[in-house]
Amino acid sequence: LPTRLPAVGTTVFTRMSALAQQHGAVNLGQGFPDFACDPRLVDMVADAMRAGHNQYPPMTGAPVLREAIAAKIARLYGHAYDVNTEITVTAGATQALTTAILCAVHPGDEAIVIEPAYDSYMPAIELAGGIVVPVAMTLDDAGYRVPWDQVQAAVTAKTRLIVVNTPHNPTGTVLRDADLQALADIVRGTDVLILSDEVYEHMVYDGERHASMSRHPVLAARSFVVSSFGKTYHTTGWKIGYVAAPAPLTAEFRKVHQYNVFSVNAPMQHGIAAYMADPAPYLELPAFYQKKRDLFRAGLAGSRFELLPADGTYFQCVRYGAISDLPESAFAEWLTSEIKVAAIPVSPFYRQARESGIVRFCFAKKDETLHSALERLARI
Ligand code: PMP
Ligand code: GLN
Repeated sequence: LPTRLPAVGTTVFTRMSALAQQHGAVNLGQGFPDFACDPRLVDMVADAMRAGHNQYPPMTGAPVLREAIAAKIARLYGHAYDVNTEITVTAGATQALTTAILCAVHPGDEAIVIEPAYDSYMPAIELAGGIVVPVAMTLDDAGYRVPWDQVQAAVTAKTRLIVVNTPHNPTGTVLRDADLQALADIVRGTDVLILSDEVYEHMVYDGERHASMSRHPVLAARSFVVSSFGKTYHTTGWKIGYVAAPAPLTAEFRKVHQYNVFSVNAPMQHGIAAYMADPAPYLELPAFYQKKRDLFRAGLAGSRFELLPADGTYFQCVRYGAISDLPESAFAEWLTSEIKVAAIPVSPFYRQARESGIVRFCFAKKDETLHSALERLARI
């Protein structure tokens, strides 16, 4: 069969999780919590099943969930999305991203992707027949930053989409208001759309606020804003997310969505909607994860790893040049098999693998898991 994706193999997350299992390593690779979600949330989903929410929900998502999402966005970011025409529930953020890309990018269109980039963006653009135009983040002592002048320089008459991700996987960078302003200046007067991956929206630390595109009227008017309940509620296996976008974009999104998945499982939508009535779980998330970040950073501070800034997400990137000159994938494999701690190399997040001597650890783990990883990492 001729392949649609010649450059693609098995994802680095699947490979590293398998290797971690094979070696009995502490898995700080693939990003997922190793602790349980709130049992009240499980009860609410079970209640929804018992209440009979077991048939197809509306294609666009259960109205109660769309209402809860719209209320949350209005409360946090001050933008009032219309519940009926501007919010769609998806099978995880991944489906929202791919569907939005299929809508926005037509054959021959260019899509700018800021790299390192989460692994699903570029293949989805290629499946849509689009051309990926990568722009690499800069890296200095202050961490990874988006070079907006280079994004501006990459825009051509064929540019249809710019993909942004804040807080950013894998670097932990969070965009600031000045970044949004720079992006707004780039797109003003063009028909370029924005796909904003905000799945880590509730993981921004040190009192900073999440720079959602929906905060910024110029950007919100041309953005697909994507999020995921898997990250927010410690349920990555549930694969439920959503996209918020202006009505004309949502109308187009739904044309494709209805033939991608038609609709998303009903009881979880109702359970999550009930759970969202209390904002505490997402309001408390930054403090919850900041403690884990600080524990992990403190544990590595005396080691030979060099910590990069970690302003958001549940990832910590480190330089390992003082330990090894292996390429990133080989170092991550060595760390997994010999030190028994799995990490993710950053190089596969680039279109052309780029060696920076950096790996990513996930700190969405029980404190005891972090302590046992730190004990091993500090000994190297
Ligand atoms: N975007 C980013 C940046 C992610 O890290 C993830 C989680 N792996 C996703 C999207 C996918 O989210 P979901 O599991 O809801 O599809
Ligand atoms: N988002 C997760 C990560 O970056 C992994 C998701 C996946 O395995 N596809 O680690």
